[in-house]
Amino acid sequence: MRRSRAFIPTTKEAPSEATLPSHQFLIRAGFINQQGAGLYNFMPLGKIVLEKIRAIVKEELDRAGCSEVQLSFVTPIGLWDRSGRSDTMGKEMLRISDRHQNEFVLSPTNEEAIVELVKNRVTSYKDLPLNLYQINTKFRDEARPRYGLLRGREFLMKDGYSFHASTEDMIREFNLMEETYKKIFTRLGLDFRVVAADSGAIGGTGSKEFHVLADSGEDTIVICDACDYGANIETIFESEEEIDALNEMSYEELQIKSIDEKCSCGGNLSFKKGIEVGHIFQLGDKYSSALEANFNDENGKPRPFEMATFGIGVSRLVASVIEQNHDENGCIWTKATAPYMVNIMISNIKDEAQTALGEELYEKLQTSHVEVMLDDRKDRFGFKMKDAELIGFPYTIIIGKELENGLVQIFERKTKENISVKTEDIYSKIMELI
Ligand SMILES: [Zn+2]
Repeated sequence: MRRSRAFIPTTKEAPSEATLPSHQFLIRAGFINQQGAGLYNFMPLGKIVLEKIRAIVKEELDRAGCSEVQLSFVTPIGLWDRSGRSDTMGKEMLRISDRHQNEFVLSPTNEEAIVELVKNRVTSYKDLPLNLYQINTKFRDEARPRYGLLRGREFLMKDGYSFHASTEDMIREFNLMEETYKKIFTRLGLDFRVVAADSGAIGGTGSKEFHVLADSGEDTIVICDACDYGANIETIFESEEEIDALNEMSYEELQIKSIDEKCSCGGNLSFKKGIEVGHIFQLGDKYSSALEANFNDENGKPRPFEMATFGIGVSRLVASVIEQNHDENGCIWTKATAPYMVNIMISNIKDEAQTALGEELYEKLQTSHVEVMLDDRKDRFGFKMKDAELIGFPYTIIIGKELENGLVQIFERKTKENISVKTEDIYSKIMELI
């Protein structure tokens, strides 16, 4: 992409309500813009990142034997009446009426709809197990939407649902999904922990959360420094006051606060702040029983499906990458999530030699399927460099005055290091780095 043709409206100022780095930088760097309270548009750079994350999620789920579907975003209220959740979901579930006064819901989750889809279509134990998922828009009418993509009202979520003939098989799938989720978050380049969790409004027994470690995280988790034990404090502390007090604390404050329950492995436990990006639940037959969704077992006897459900906050992940990877100058994308891997900066667009080399490299990298941006704008070098740091391209090739001596620079966003490379070596060097 040529920067002169791109739609990347960068700004110096962030909106006053944007207190978190991801909220500030994603708006300032032109990835997203706010449409209304808790509602965001994804501009071209934001859309690229979102699609990259979506693709990795899909690839790993498909590899694990899941099948993608797409359910209607609008669902009839009758479905929610039958499971009893039209009462329990409260005001977070937005209800709308059509011209015939029929009541509908903008889906906040889809357990009921998926059970209806599978019911009467899967009738025998021989058709099980089954794991269906979608990556689709969700709506939750948060009382106080804030923190940009981290707590919006409309968001993109992966929600998956599995159906089984036995509890043992459901637990096998639950464990498979835990491993699959670990692969997804590892591929995205995130530092994360899997923790035991409270099942909340979804219901069910066993449940685990996946947290991206970040100072700005809303949740407080306890992790062991020696084994992979981790738990949300909601599962450890009983008093609401104690939980709220811990959640209010900053990171720095949590570090000072000691915790006296050593881990069973003998390791030390400590508090961390986390952003919940995934949640997996063992549901049992809660929804299948309520919605009378049965299959025939080996003896021809009807039984409700054993179910599990699996969520990933896809648009939330865009912000989580930045909460974990940024500095005072802007975004630092991981290699798997960067909108463009390489930015070629022509310092002085009037310099024919600089422009010629920039164009040549641009063509060559594109031919090699490298995602590359060519900054061919007439603006000053300092301005363009600030812009590149704000957006967070992993590598910027700077073609400037040193070209007279046969040299160009490669600026690495993460380390802020500049290395000089001979012009004839630049292509092989950048291919080696990426
Ligand atoms: Zn331990």
